[in-house]
Amino acid sequence: MAASIKKIGVLTSGGDSPGMNACIRAVVRSALANGCEAVGIQSGYEGMIEGLFRPMLHHDVSNIIQRGGTILKTARSPRFHQPEWRAVAHAKLVEAGIDGLVVIGGDGTFTGAKIFGEEYDLPIVGTAGTIDNDLYGTDYTIGYDTALNTAMEAIDKIRDTAASHNRLFFVEVMGRDAGFIAINAGIAGGAEAILIPESKTDVDALIRHLDNGHVTHSSSIVVVAEGDDQGGAMEVAQKVKEKFNKYDTRVTIIGHIQRGGAPSCADRVLATRVGVGAVKGLLQGERGCMAGIQNMDLVFTPFEQAIKHNQDISPAMLDLARSLNCFL
Ligand code: ATP
Repeated sequence: MAASIKKIGVLTSGGDSPGMNACIRAVVRSALANGCEAVGIQSGYEGMIEGLFRPMLHHDVSNIIQRGGTILKTARSPRFHQPEWRAVAHAKLVEAGIDGLVVIGGDGTFTGAKIFGEEYDLPIVGTAGTIDNDLYGTDYTIGYDTALNTAMEAIDKIRDTAASHNRLFFVEVMGRDAGFIAINAGIAGGAEAILIPESKTDVDALIRHLDNGHVTHSSSIVVVAEGDDQGGAMEVAQKVKEKFNKYDTRVTIIGHIQRGGAPSCADRVLATRVGVGAVKGLLQGERGCMAGIQNMDLVFTPFEQAIKHNQDISPAMLDLARSLNCFL
């Protein structure tokens, strides 16, 4: 068993994702249920440096499970990269009596947590709050399901207008390094082609595909992950248009609406499971790791592995897209 933890701090860091609030709620409520105090740290690591702490009671997390964003606010903190500012952050934690931390964020957040936890021998457990679904050690990350559904609904709406005008649409979805949203929203939205960072895009081959009768005259959607090697939807559309002008072409960048909105049921339940799991883990001596769900079970994966071994898109999904004659 770990040295008993009495006061658990919780923060959200990096990009926000729908379901972070559900996770904060779960951390606070389970900390209280286990006889600990709970403290909300505002604005991620930046707030830790500034000592922006507030005690969180049961009612402080009422009525937030259904809200997107994060009531604790999030931030990117360049200062936290520097040891002298991490020392300030640690002094603030000691002053406030916080002896355990739950950090909700992505790989950058976990990198910072790993360094900080080792530097000051501080128990820290993370939960994966990012729409990118790119962390190893959890089947899904908090916010991914909601973002995916937002992207799919947008594609459906674009298809209505594409079909009415016989237009070719290039639709950009989020995913700087990972194509999870693109491939899943593309399959669910019936895209003719899906361009993802994980596979090299051959513009000439894409044009042949578009010109080959795969594209009907009613509607045509090419889903482009923002991190595709040929650029985002704007760049890809431009490159296609330079050589292939058969269709009236439009570009839509779905953008930040993918980060907002009420979290889906799946995200709320996931966020609640890993939030409760993170507290349970801390109290049982887990540290320097991420609480995730794999095959329905709660698992703890060291930060180092969660960050370094990026989850890959499964070959089965790639096969599925190709079986539909969808250009990848
Ligand atoms: P998202 O996946 O949504 O971008 P993220 O957690 O990866 O989320 P980042 O901006 O990469 O977001 O990281 C969040 C914060 O973590 C940074 O602003 C910084 O304060 C801290 N951090 C990241 N890398 C390090 C590092 N090497 N050392 C110390 N702190 C770090």
